[in-house]
Amino acid sequence: MSASRSIRFSKSKNSRSNLERDLRKLIPTKAGVIADPARLAELGTDKWFAASLPEIAVAPGSAKEVSAVLAYAHKHNIPVTARGAGVGYVGGCVPLRGGILMSLHRMNRIREISGEDFVAVVEPHVITGVLQSEVEKRGLFYPPDPQSYKDCSIGGNIATNAGGPRCLKYGVTRPYVLGLQVALADGTLVRVGGRTHKNKTGFDLVGIFVGSEGMLGVITEATLKLLPLPPAHVTLSAGFDSMHDAAAAVQAIFKAGYLPCAVEVADSFTLQSARNAHKEVKGSFIPPGKAHLLVELDGQKASVLSEGKALKALLAKNKALEVELATSPERRVRIWALRRAFSASLKATGLTKLNEDIAVPRGRLVDLIAFAEKLQKKTGFPIACFGHAGDGNIHVNIMVSKEQQSKRPKEIEATLDALFRQVIAWGGAITGEHGIGIAKKRWWNEATTPELRKLHSLIKKAVDPKDILNPGKFV
Ligand SMILES: Cc1cc2nc3c(=O)[nH]c(=O)nc-3n(C[C@H](O)[C@H](O)[C@H](O)COP(=O)(O)OP(=O)(O)OC[C@H]3O[C@@H](n4cnc5c(N)ncnc54)[C@H](O)[C@@H]3O)c2cc1C
Repeated sequence: MSASRSIRFSKSKNSRSNLERDLRKLIPTKAGVIADPARLAELGTDKWFAASLPEIAVAPGSAKEVSAVLAYAHKHNIPVTARGAGVGYVGGCVPLRGGILMSLHRMNRIREISGEDFVAVVEPHVITGVLQSEVEKRGLFYPPDPQSYKDCSIGGNIATNAGGPRCLKYGVTRPYVLGLQVALADGTLVRVGGRTHKNKTGFDLVGIFVGSEGMLGVITEATLKLLPLPPAHVTLSAGFDSMHDAAAAVQAIFKAGYLPCAVEVADSFTLQSARNAHKEVKGSFIPPGKAHLLVELDGQKASVLSEGKALKALLAKNKALEVELATSPERRVRIWALRRAFSASLKATGLTKLNEDIAVPRGRLVDLIAFAEKLQKKTGFPIACFGHAGDGNIHVNIMVSKEQQSKRPKEIEATLDALFRQVIAWGGAITGEHGIGIAKKRWWNEATTPELRKLHSLIKKAVDPKDILNPGKFV
């Protein structure tokens, strides 16, 4: 599961000190170049299992400095890996080939929030949750909400095309990116898109950079689309006897013509872990049953209240054991606290969670749940499923002990293979939102055709002919 700590670029102490000297000239401030080995080790990893030491790290303070470092690296054939907040789940920002790790953490300013144009202009390292609360203070709304929003950066969200619970109604990050400033591999600064909500000038080049996982350019500025802030929310929390019943209730919600802003599901193992790890979910509402649904509606007060009541009745009719309709901010926060604690509760079991954020066509949700249950029985590895049920984007967590990891690695890989093969056979995606990075590379070929892989290579070669940007990943 772990990438090797190889430093292909590393040559000698002398060449490394020359590199440091040159980079310090390009970013003269002290904080601009990081050579401390302990800090480099921290920067060489993310929330997945891989680690790889960069030769050196830089922290540019402006697009001009990003561009200067890239031009230098391009000239000298040095790998450059962009890093946002490092809370990715697939090893995307891990500098597999060493070289220069470019941490964007000093570029963290919100340049503009315009209530007239409904846009925000931000540097790449603005933290998603910070942007959300700043725009909300002005009655505006930035919908993409990865559950790591308190820690992750907008640049990382754009590079992974991040999703989250609200994507059910509002979509993933892509539709909210109106314009980008990007530094290309040779240092050229280019602007794509703009600040209008519609723009058909040329190819959709914004779309090429969104989700490109740091392999096509370094994002130095983003112009993001904002919406009016919905004034009211209600949240429903329902317990079910089985995941099958909960998944069937999700289908019933859509059949009845409702489009909630979030529909999140959790299975028995996940719920039990939350109950056991009581501290993690202190003050949360833990409902009875072996499966849980969280449903949220947003909009005008009268309409969300009446829809909330109707949904409560619909869930009760569809085998919910108990349903709470929360209208006060305090109760809603408690229900969300339970959802947000799932990851930590699973970790608190002491097992390692191999978190696979697969997505299946929505109609396959019930089949996916049945498949995960069968796989669990067959392999003996507990499988915890929770996540964005409304999008068919479920986090399927294979739970394994340290001992199993060392003694049964082949069985673990075979379990993951079986999961991914079934997802692909259903026309699903091996990753709904986290990206390929290193974690999903094993299944990249199975998930794509040779023609699609060739197209990826052609695009990569066109903008990064020397393959210096985040090399060693899936293209
Ligand atoms: C508890 C938890 C919950 C999560 N929940 C969700 C969720 O609900 N939805 C979701 O989508 N993800 C989720 N994630 C995954 C993760 O938070 C997202 O992938 C997030 O977008 C990563 O942002 P980051 O700033 O940490 O990026 P990093 O991890 O630093 O980098 C991710 C990728 O983006 C590239 N990159 C970063 N900045 C730039 C830049 N300026 N220019 C070019 N490339 C760049 C990197 O090279 C790398 O390939 C979760 C993670 C955790 C730990």
